[in-house]
Parts: sequence; C-alpha cells; structure tokens
Amino acid sequence: MTLCFATNNNHKLQEVQALLGNEFTLLTLSDIGCTADIPETRDTIADNSSQKAEYIWEHYGINCFSDDTGLEVDALNGEPGVLSARYAGPQRSAADNMALLISRLQNSDNRKARFKTVITLVIDGIFHQFEGIVDGQIILNQRGDQGFGYDPIFVPDGHEQTFAEMSMEEKGKLSHRGRALEKLNAFLKNLAV
Ligand code: IMP
Repeated sequence: MTLCFATNNNHKLQEVQALLGNEFTLLTLSDIGCTADIPETRDTIADNSSQKAEYIWEHYGINCFSDDTGLEVDALNGEPGVLSARYAGPQRSAADNMALLISRLQNSDNRKARFKTVITLVIDGIFHQFEGIVDGQIILNQRGDQGFGYDPIFVPDGHEQTFAEMSMEEKGKLSHRGRALEKLNAFLKNLAV
C-alpha cells in the first residue's frame, strides 16, 4: 500500500517507515510535489493534525496521514499545547521555547505535563485518528543532548532520565509519537489483511 506521510522531516520518515515495514511505501510531501506551507491554524492538536491530512486529500486525492504534537503543562493551563513549536516566537527555537517554559514555571510546585500526538489517517476520504500520550514532569535544569524540542526538560513518569538522556529506541518505546504510531500500525495491518 502507498501512503503519503505529510512531512518533509526525514528523521520522522525513517522512524515511521521502520515501524510500518516494507509492505507500505511512504511518500513525503516533496515526493507528491507539495511545496506549500500547509496551514496549522486550528485550536487543538487533533484539529491541527486533521487539517494537514484534509489539505493533502483535497489537493492531491492521495491516501495519507499526518501527525501533530504538543506539550501540555498543567500549571500553565495546558500551554504551550498547539503553540509548542513557536512558544517563544516565530523563530521556532527549542532553546528559547524551553527557556520561556522554565521561567514560567519558576514559582510553581506543580510540574506535571504530558506530550500528546494525534495522527490523522485518510483512506479513500474516510478519516481516522490515533492518539498517543505520555505523562511526566518538567524539570527546571536541562539534561541530555539526544532528541529534540523539549526533550531535555521532560522526564516521563516511572523513569529517572529525561527523553534527551535516552536512546532513540528507548524513547520510541514509550513516547507519545511511538504510542500513536503503534495504533496506526495495528489499524493498517488489519486493513492490509
Ligand atoms: P510537531 O507537531 O511534531 O511538529 O511538534 C510540534 C512541536 O512540539 C515541536 O516543534 C517540538 O517543540 C515539540 N515536540 C514534538 N515532539 C516532541 C518530542 O518528541 N520531544 C520534544 N518535543 C517535541
């Protein structure tokens, strides 16, 4: 089965291809000739995820899936949420985003947070969504140099290390994206039988 994965991020593509296996041929946005900056203007992670898949389906008529992720911090009423990539501004800097988050949590004892990923799959115009969540705590001193985004300040529940101190395999087994992908994988395998 051929599916477009609405990304140009090669790291994500490899991660997903490894999980789905070779019976699925994945096309990136550039493979289908999509160079547009697909809008992500909705208010929730689920809606932003489906906005990307809708765009591909409407403009290219290709079966596809897209993902959207956000970090939700309880003491900040769910921020940065849909703003996770550009929390500190349009420069989309992970260092600036973490610095802002840490400064906003200085006076709070509640450090609970979660990463949430929603994958939207469109098969022949029918939409399906798969959610993956990992709960954890924000720490105020960054640790580790693996991964990306907020990984150096996120410690998943039941673990001592931040995501940035884990290998990609370790993180993938328990991460929000890994969990959403497992659900997508199970669904696709069922379809393919
Ligand atoms: P995206 O929807 O996957 O592009 O994620 C939006 C933003 O959430 C990213 O720019 C990162 O700041 C953050 N983010 C997403 N996934 C992760 C992760 O696995 N670790 C740390 N930060 C992440």
